[in-house]
Amino acid sequence: MRLGFHVSIAGGMSRAVERAHALGCEAMQIFTRNPRAWRYGDLDEQEVRQFRDRCLAVGIETVVVHLPYLPNLAARRGRLRRLSIDALRSDLARAGALGAMAVVCHVGHRGNGRLDAAGRLDAALARVAAALDEGMDGAGRGVYVLLENTAGQGREVGSTFRELARIMDRVTDRARVGVCLDTAHAFARGYDLSTQEGLESTLVELDDHIGLASLQLIHLNDSKARLGSRVDRHWHIGTGRIGRAGFRRIMHHPGCSHLPGIMETPLRRRGDDRRNMRVARELAGRGENER
Ligand SMILES: [Zn+2]
Ligand SMILES: [Zn+2]
Repeated sequence: MRLGFHVSIAGGMSRAVERAHALGCEAMQIFTRNPRAWRYGDLDEQEVRQFRDRCLAVGIETVVVHLPYLPNLAARRGRLRRLSIDALRSDLARAGALGAMAVVCHVGHRGNGRLDAAGRLDAALARVAAALDEGMDGAGRGVYVLLENTAGQGREVGSTFRELARIMDRVTDRARVGVCLDTAHAFARGYDLSTQEGLESTLVELDDHIGLASLQLIHLNDSKARLGSRVDRHWHIGTGRIGRAGFRRIMHHPGCSHLPGIMETPLRRRGDDRRNMRVARELAGRGENER
């Protein structure tokens, strides 16, 4: 598994590459702008060139862009929907310029209305598919859109493979849409990745609904929250409820071992990232110098 982190772009895009390199990443994930604001400036051409050159120079093979937090692809008509589609379109273009393989999207959340109404869920999933169609149209050709499974917190949609499939099956350019499996979100939603049987049944379910070939990225996060709690609480690799054995099996599973694994683990104390990388490498069976 090609391991890496979500890294900050503070100080400029190329600084992000140096951060990732210092942590020993072979894959990295970034926001292309402030994830908590709608306004953004154009990417600086020189920054883009430097970013690509540095990735090549330090051996970062896989770059993925994460869509900011504000867009909601399940939004109903109106300003939020328009801004959300614009955000997807512009991030696809930016990802293309930066040489990224994909843009990772949270699927979104339903607005008001009864939570248990199946019709409303279906309408929300249809809105996501339509938003993907609009956002992908003509933007960032060759860049994949990866739907990330959610923990199913509150009104989040897209927490099961069945729901993701119902979106993907409606998208016009289906081949361009894949899945990013977030291990902490899956666990919180009730997919027991801490056991051998749980991992197998999770991947069988993914394969049945979506096809394993569409799984293109793993977000490697341990979970502080309980199985099925629907609480999104990322934790350090091996010390949460998925645990060391759980991650070792995930990283060595033939459905996952060839994929990039990006950590979005907490960064509270100095050295947290370094420690998580050390543990992840060890579990993946790779020594310090074995790259
Ligand atoms: Zn994630
Ligand atoms: Zn999360």
